[in-house]
Amino acid sequence: MNFEDYSGVWVFLEEDGDSVAPVSLELLGAGRRLADKRGVKLGGIIIGNDVKHLSTVAFEYGADVVYVYDQEIFTHYRTESYMKALLHCSEKHKPEIILFGATSTGKDLASAVATDLPTGLTADTTELDVEEDTGLLLASRPAFGGNIMATILCKKYRPQMATVRPKVMKALEPEEGRVGELVEESIDVKEDDIRTKVLEIVKTTTKKVRIDEADIVVAGGKGLGSAEGFKLIHQLANTLGGAVGASRDVVEAGWIEHHHQVGQTGVTVTPKIYIAVGISGAIQHLVGMKNSGMIIAINKDPDAAIFEACHYGIVGDAFEILPLMIKAFDQELSRKEVDHAREV
Ligand SMILES: Cc1cc2nc3c(=O)[nH]c(=O)nc-3n(C[C@H](O)[C@H](O)[C@H](O)COP(=O)(O)OP(=O)(O)OC[C@H]3O[C@@H](n4cnc5c(N)ncnc54)[C@H](O)[C@@H]3O)c2cc1C
Repeated sequence: MNFEDYSGVWVFLEEDGDSVAPVSLELLGAGRRLADKRGVKLGGIIIGNDVKHLSTVAFEYGADVVYVYDQEIFTHYRTESYMKALLHCSEKHKPEIILFGATSTGKDLASAVATDLPTGLTADTTELDVEEDTGLLLASRPAFGGNIMATILCKKYRPQMATVRPKVMKALEPEEGRVGELVEESIDVKEDDIRTKVLEIVKTTTKKVRIDEADIVVAGGKGLGSAEGFKLIHQLANTLGGAVGASRDVVEAGWIEHHHQVGQTGVTVTPKIYIAVGISGAIQHLVGMKNSGMIIAINKDPDAAIFEACHYGIVGDAFEILPLMIKAFDQELSRKEVDHAREV
């Protein structure tokens, strides 16, 4: 394999027909940094039906070139059809790096493509860098139960591939009117070639709390003692208009559903304010919230690891502090409402 044939950093751009997924925009930000360090182009690849217009978004968020496969067969995501397009594009244009969001689509597609190419794939990456001279991608992720950060290299194959967790990288500020090169590609793939058929799309009707999109997350740990004690977390979150997060131990105890779990095996969040109550601060929890704007920890153990990771720490009993906070914020917010009503 001649590595010199490979050039450019690519991002697989996930879309829903109308918009590019936030994680893909974040990856364009990360990819821009890698491409600049290497002195190569940043490419985006979009596969779908009626998706060509989304290339403008990719250019505004940092892409130099966008490869588009705009065909009816790509209306719905299916591993086989998308994999064929990505393999075609990768074999034709030979990028040195391809990044995917660690979403269900990104993980599925990346693993299928890496197997077929074949090349190496680092899953669930949380940090990315590149060696300027060798072009080796340094993809880091928590390993061995989160006790260490492992940096994984793919020394013998190209392209190097990684899936990256949503909300870990930062998107660039979009530059309105920024343009790039649009490369329209297509492949000859027939419906009969694809084994998976989409018969019906059933949209979920359960109301999920999107803690990954909330500005304020109030998260509780085993220190709340019981499902009853955990209700104080819901109350504070309600008062502040925030979402509820939890440690894994709380989820395992059955006090709240898994989609509230923050951390290595849960969700990664980056709210403006993260309030951690009765959470010890295990590394597996920290990796899911350490990039929050402001971290406030409440714990009765002054030596708890969470105090190493927070901006403000309150040493004390959650059952004394939370009711005081709820009362104080309630009063403050109703005072503001009265003032606002007076002004109006
Ligand atoms: C492979 C693997 C993956 C994992 N993934 C995750 C993950 O995604 N997310 C996650 O959270 N964990 C994860 N864990 C588990 C993690 O290692 C910890 O066990 C877990 O985060 C601890 O949860 P906790 O902080 O709620 O409980 P504990 O560690 O039991 O901490 C409870 C804290 O509450 C404090 N406390 C007790 N009473 C009070 C009180 N009245 N007021 C104030 N403070 C009080 C205590 O001082 C203590 O610090 C994972 C572990 C492994 C091995």
